[in-house]
Amino acid sequence: MNTFLGYANTLTIYNLTNFQLSHHPTFLQFSNFGIFQSFNTYLCPVENQKIDIRKLSLTELEEYFLANGEKKFRAKQVYDWLWNKSLKNFDDMSNISLSTREMLKENFIINHIQVDLMQHSSDGTIKNAVKLFDDKIVESVLIPTTKRITACVSSQVGCSLDCNFCATARLKRMRNLTPGEIYDQVVAIKEEAETYFQRPLTNIVFMGMGEPLLNYANVIEAIDKITSPEGLGMAPRRITLSTVGVTKMIRKMADDEVKFNLAVSLHSAINETRSRLMPINDSNPVEELGEALKYWYQKTKRKVTYEYVIWDGINDDEKHARALAKFCKIIPSKVNLIQYNPIDEGEFRQAKQEAVDMYVRILEQNGIIAKVRKSRGQDIDAACGQLANKNEVAQLINS
Ligand code: SAH
Repeated sequence: MNTFLGYANTLTIYNLTNFQLSHHPTFLQFSNFGIFQSFNTYLCPVENQKIDIRKLSLTELEEYFLANGEKKFRAKQVYDWLWNKSLKNFDDMSNISLSTREMLKENFIINHIQVDLMQHSSDGTIKNAVKLFDDKIVESVLIPTTKRITACVSSQVGCSLDCNFCATARLKRMRNLTPGEIYDQVVAIKEEAETYFQRPLTNIVFMGMGEPLLNYANVIEAIDKITSPEGLGMAPRRITLSTVGVTKMIRKMADDEVKFNLAVSLHSAINETRSRLMPINDSNPVEELGEALKYWYQKTKRKVTYEYVIWDGINDDEKHARALAKFCKIIPSKVNLIQYNPIDEGEFRQAKQEAVDMYVRILEQNGIIAKVRKSRGQDIDAACGQLANKNEVAQLINS
C-alpha cells in the first residue's frame, strides 16, 4: 500500500512539475521529504501557499483523492463543479461530504476571476473589466450581432509586442493568464449573453489583450477546457485565435493539429511598412510568415483570416493593396478590413472610403473574399485595440 501511495505521489509530482509548480515553495518542501511523503502532507501549506485546485488535471485530482483515502469518482464530481458549473467556493459543492470539503479548503483555493466593472455600449456590446486574484485587471468583451454572440477574451495582462497603433501595447506585459482565468472570462460572457440577450454564446475570439501565441500552453489548455464535455462543450470551429504572426508558434500549432481557426493581424504585406507598424515583423518578416502559413495549411487544411486596417497615408495605396492580394494567394484565405479605432491624436487615422473601396475592388478582382468590418463598442473603448484599462494607461502616461 505504501509503495503504491509513493508511486502515485511520484506521478503526481512529475505532473505538477509540468505546470511549473516545481517553483512552488511546497514543492521544495516536498523534495526535502522524499517521494514517499504523502501528497496530503506535501500539500499542507500555510494559508497563502495554497494551490489553485484548477491547476490540477482530472487525473491529478483523482490521484490526490485516492492518495487521501477518498473515492476516485469524488474527484470527477469536484472537477465537474470546478469547470462545468464554474463554482467559486468549496462550500457550495453539495454532493461532496463536509469532511472532504474541509480537506479541500485546507489545501487548495479556487482562483476565480471577478467582473469588477461592466460597461454597456449603445450598440449592445458589453465590456468587462476583470479582476484577477492578484488584483491585476484585464478586459473582455461581449459582441452581439443578429446571428452571433461572440466573446472576445484576453490572454495576457498587458502585451509585450509594441504594435504602434494598439492601446494594449502601451501597457507593459505583466504576466500570462492562467487557463482558469481565460476560461472564466468565457463563462462570465456566456452568463451575460443568457442574462441580457437570452441567447447562447456562439463564438470566441482571442482578440483581447495580449498575444495568445506567447502564452501558448495556457491558451491551449483553456481551449481544451472550453471544448471538452467536462467544460463548456463548445465546438473548436467556433473559436478563433488571432496572432500578430509568431511564425515558430504557427508551425507548432500546425504540428499540434489544432481544430480552431487562425486569424493573422497582417496590416501590410510589405516588410518596410509592416515593420513600422509592428516591430515583431523584424524577426518574423512577411516571407517567413507566408512559409509558416503554408505549413499551417498543409497540416490543418484550414483557411486563414487576415485582419487588416487601412490607414490614411500609410498603406492606403494600390501598391499595398496589390501586395495584400498576392499574399492572400499563398494559401486559401479571406480578409477582414477592420475599421481603425483611434487611441490618441497620433499619426494613425482611418483611411478614406475611396481607399477601402479600392482594396475591396483589387481583392475581388483577384478572387479573394474581403469583408469590411464595422467597429463595435467604440463608445466604451471596447473595440479592437482599445482594450487597455484606461486607468492604468493614465497612470503610465502620467508617471
Ligand atoms: N495579439 C493578437 C490579438 C490582439 S489584437 C493580434 O495581434 O492579433 C486584436 C486585433 O485588433 C488585431 O488584429 C490588432 O491588430 C487589431 N487592433 C489593434 N489595435 C487596433 C486599433 N486601434 N484599431 C483597430 N484594430 C486594432
